[in-house]
Amino acid sequence: MLPVDLNGKIALVTGVADNHGFAWHIAKSLQAAGARLVFSSHPRVTGIVENILARDKDAESRVLPFGAGTLKVETLIPCDVAFDSMEDVDEATRSDRHYQKHADYSIKGLMEAVRKGFGGLDILIHSVAFSPEIRNRLIDTSRKGYLTALSVSAYSLSALLRAAQPLMENRPGGASALGLTYIGGDRAVAHYGGGMSTAKAALQIDCKQLAQQLGPKNIRVNLISAGPYASRAARAIGDIQQMIDQASKLSPLPRPIEPEEVAHTAAFLCSPLASAITGHIVYVDCGYNIVGV
Ligand code: NAD
Repeated sequence: MLPVDLNGKIALVTGVADNHGFAWHIAKSLQAAGARLVFSSHPRVTGIVENILARDKDAESRVLPFGAGTLKVETLIPCDVAFDSMEDVDEATRSDRHYQKHADYSIKGLMEAVRKGFGGLDILIHSVAFSPEIRNRLIDTSRKGYLTALSVSAYSLSALLRAAQPLMENRPGGASALGLTYIGGDRAVAHYGGGMSTAKAALQIDCKQLAQQLGPKNIRVNLISAGPYASRAARAIGDIQQMIDQASKLSPLPRPIEPEEVAHTAAFLCSPLASAITGHIVYVDCGYNIVGV
């Protein structure tokens, strides 16, 4: 059998907030292929993720696909990807009780913890997006909201890779970074506001630039452009079910995507089977992106 073999690879999965989002499903697929897992969550949700990883109520969601056993996460590291180092943290955040329980929640601190715990990194999953004004059309979006969307949802990939580069370069068989984008980065999509479309467009060109710049270090960088899926972030958009129904109706495969389909593609793209694929955007959207009228 042709294997998707990630045996012993260290995978850092960012953007885990619950057991519904793409990050959770991607983590499960990576581990079903043999990867060791490090999770990173926004400082506000680390307690929620710890609970989901431990409690009986969520046991079913921890079962790995393909009979590969049960999800095992070696460590969970808090990180707010808006901060490159703790020097960047503003006063309001510093005094927020959700943040105060963590000593270092910057990207620098995250990568330092990975270096100390694991010595290197083979796979980086970027599954993070946020706009404080997602429900505002671009024409109604403030400069502040727009720049936050870009900072958290797009620039963070470059910032994470800059900090991770010493850990990822020249790994045996190479290393791989993977992010998530949406067709709203290519085309005008109603309801995808607050600068998120712009952030996805930025993420898409950044993926290509980063692939070119990190290729000589044998680090590949790719994105999956996923079809609409009712995750926590997507529900914040408001009309997610309408987006899902619309895409299902028009797609060549006339149905919604499943998060496992995104996850298995992620495992392939991070595996040696995809060793010549970099700077690419793979559409996991039931073909919606090819449709004209
Ligand atoms: P999700 O809510 O599970 O994931 C979003 C994550 O971003 C959460 O874990 C949240 O805590 C994290 N986050 C937000 N701000 C952060 C910050 N400052 N620092 C650290 N983490 C922060 O939702 P999801 O839909 O699984 O989203 C994952 C990725 O998939 C995103 O990039 C999203 O744009 C993309 N995507 C989603 C859809 C969809 O329809 N759900 C479609 C295409 C692409």
